[in-house]
Amino acid sequence: MVRRVLLMMIAVVLICSCQNKNKSGEDKPVIMVTIEPQRYFAEAIAGDKFNVMAIVPKGSSPESYDPTPQQLISLKNSQAYLRIGYIGFEQVWLDRLLENTPHLQVFDTSKDIDVMIDTSEHEHNHEQGEHNHKCGVGGIEPHVWNSPNNALVIARNTYRALSQLDKENEPYYFARYDSLCQTIAQTDSIIRKELSKPNAAESFIIYHPALSYFARDYGLQQVSIELNGKEPSPTHLKELVDFCEANNVHTIFVQPEFDKRNAQLIANEIGAAIITINPLSYDWNNEMIAVAKALAKNKGKELNE
Ligand SMILES: [Zn+2]
Repeated sequence: MVRRVLLMMIAVVLICSCQNKNKSGEDKPVIMVTIEPQRYFAEAIAGDKFNVMAIVPKGSSPESYDPTPQQLISLKNSQAYLRIGYIGFEQVWLDRLLENTPHLQVFDTSKDIDVMIDTSEHEHNHEQGEHNHKCGVGGIEPHVWNSPNNALVIARNTYRALSQLDKENEPYYFARYDSLCQTIAQTDSIIRKELSKPNAAESFIIYHPALSYFARDYGLQQVSIELNGKEPSPTHLKELVDFCEANNVHTIFVQPEFDKRNAQLIANEIGAAIITINPLSYDWNNEMIAVAKALAKNKGKELNE
């Protein structure tokens, strides 16, 4: 219901926004992306040729975000939309937004990624209210960007999109794409070095399963506290504690967008460390490395010291 009203507001804003010009002065074309890590990849390649804007702001969940009318104006003034692939925001909003902005060229930056099927999803996806944190629709694991392997594919798709939008500057984009690939490869090798340390974890617990592709890249096991986008039951919590004890798990990741009480419960039970990560950060390389460093330590709180 709220969404329907918002859509009507948006339609009105779009009709009234025709004379709204890009107010940055210089007429740099605007490209929209969904999340901040994508803005990092796109800016790295676009350099000074495009303004890149992420629609989901810092601190908001891309599974449940609703766009503001102001953002719809920005969309109207954009040349292209680079989607990340399967995240909730795009599933819910993108088709409807594109109906209002038929000029917008859309590129899927997850094209050619070997996607994972979300195996935690046994049940059918019933509508659970406006703001459930259910991830991918159709059972596809949507957190594709948290993986150096996938980041290389996202970068390539972004490079191709920019070259298509602005053919003249293709060599410029290629040089920047190439240097981004080197940065990503360097991040990957730092991660591998961290994860080969003697105490490095092979399994970890996370509130919201944002590191599925990271775990696949490096042969790790991710276990999420959240089940089907919902708070865990006492039975699931008990299973998690048993799992941690059986598998030497001392690392529990939480994200700022999610409640950490259940993570705290488990941490207290097994003497684990709670580590806040931000996989939605613009600072993608350092976030990936921070995850690896935390896993390399895999130490609990020193309870008896
Ligand atoms: Zn998510």
